[in-house]
Amino acid sequence: MPELLIRNADVVVTMNATRAELAGADIHVRDGVIQAIGPGLAVAGAEVIEARGCVVTPGLVNTHHHMFQTLTRAVPGGQDALLFGWLRTLYPIWTRFGPEEMFVSTQVGLAELALSGCTLTSDHLYLFPNGSRLDDTIAAAAETGLRFHPTRGAMSIGESAGGLPPDTLVEREGMILDDMIRVVDQFQDPRPGAMMRVGLAPCSPFSVSRELMRDTALLARDKRVMLHTHLAENDEDIAHSLAQFGCRPGQYAEELGWTGVDVWHAHCVKLNSSEIELFGRSRTGVSHCPCSNCRLGSGIAPVRAMRDARVRVGLGVDGSASSDAGNLIAEARMAMLLQRVARGADAMSAREALEIATLGGAQVLGRDDLGSLEPGKRADLAIWDMSGVEAAGNWDPVAALVLCGPTRVRNLIVEGREVVRGGEMLTLDLPKVLERHRRLAQRLAG
Ligand SMILES: [Zn+2]
Repeated sequence: MPELLIRNADVVVTMNATRAELAGADIHVRDGVIQAIGPGLAVAGAEVIEARGCVVTPGLVNTHHHMFQTLTRAVPGGQDALLFGWLRTLYPIWTRFGPEEMFVSTQVGLAELALSGCTLTSDHLYLFPNGSRLDDTIAAAAETGLRFHPTRGAMSIGESAGGLPPDTLVEREGMILDDMIRVVDQFQDPRPGAMMRVGLAPCSPFSVSRELMRDTALLARDKRVMLHTHLAENDEDIAHSLAQFGCRPGQYAEELGWTGVDVWHAHCVKLNSSEIELFGRSRTGVSHCPCSNCRLGSGIAPVRAMRDARVRVGLGVDGSASSDAGNLIAEARMAMLLQRVARGADAMSAREALEIATLGGAQVLGRDDLGSLEPGKRADLAIWDMSGVEAAGNWDPVAALVLCGPTRVRNLIVEGREVVRGGEMLTLDLPKVLERHRRLAQRLAG
């Protein structure tokens, strides 16, 4: 692989142990790994990316998404509904998806993330109609060049058994576990620098049985992969947990083995103080999805309290039917703003939001090989041009990136390879992908 030299960045935001910000610095990359960072580096024969006028950050990390939903954005019946009503509107549409819908929708979701500075994303696919498989999304990610942590989701309690989804969208629990084993054996890569790691992810405690939650946790520990689900998303969710399980979501999770450093839960808007203490003590991770929480009126997640309790927190754009945008740097701004709505202007700084978006996400996904820019770490980084109209006149480019913009990256590097250049995807013919995506969306809309 050719060597890469990123030269003359106005600021390199390292996110290292001292959170150093280096002015006028270069970054030398070889074989997908950062070799050196500092001023005046000289590397004969390296490909050079000029970064004058730019802020360079670690690549942003997205810890929660449902990329298939890029085909069902702004669906009229779901625009103004709460979570459960929103789901009931969308389930019948999703029953018509197949492998092509999964593949193309994932390509679009990944491109949208890449253009907003994301180098590593997880995805939570929990329905597999008409022969769809997790493999469809994995094939899409391999083409785009982003680092990918797909999770094998599941729903097993359909309408006839008192659940929310139609019976056609649920699977038998034995088949779910078999397919979980298949995808882990086929795709999991535990090595440092892995481009692909698989997680296990029943959709939510209310869409699978207690036994499947427990068995999935046992399987994940046996296979050494991570666990993910939705938890404590809104008031309905808490009420359901109390009525159905006789306890709060945090206690349910703990009883079934769903706490620990290998677990991360999406949303957690309604965790109370003892659940926050539990997650901090057990090092359980949280994917904070501020725009989705606003869009569905779920509330403001207690991120300040979580961070103070040493809960590991990353950001998630959540599915494109409930966000509906999948712009990760915009999500960092919303995370910062929401804590200020709840707790005042000093509740979260722009730099802390940027830390959650980068290092925080990497920690939540169990990646100690990336998330900061330091020699020895994987070369996943975003180059932001601060000379445009969005940040014009700023006195502090690092804070301005979150407070002002831009919201589109200039260059994006994953494992030392350029995925975005000049604000355009290099790895995909995006106009062609969007045309195919548009035709599929039209077909679904009938
Ligand atoms: Zn979600």
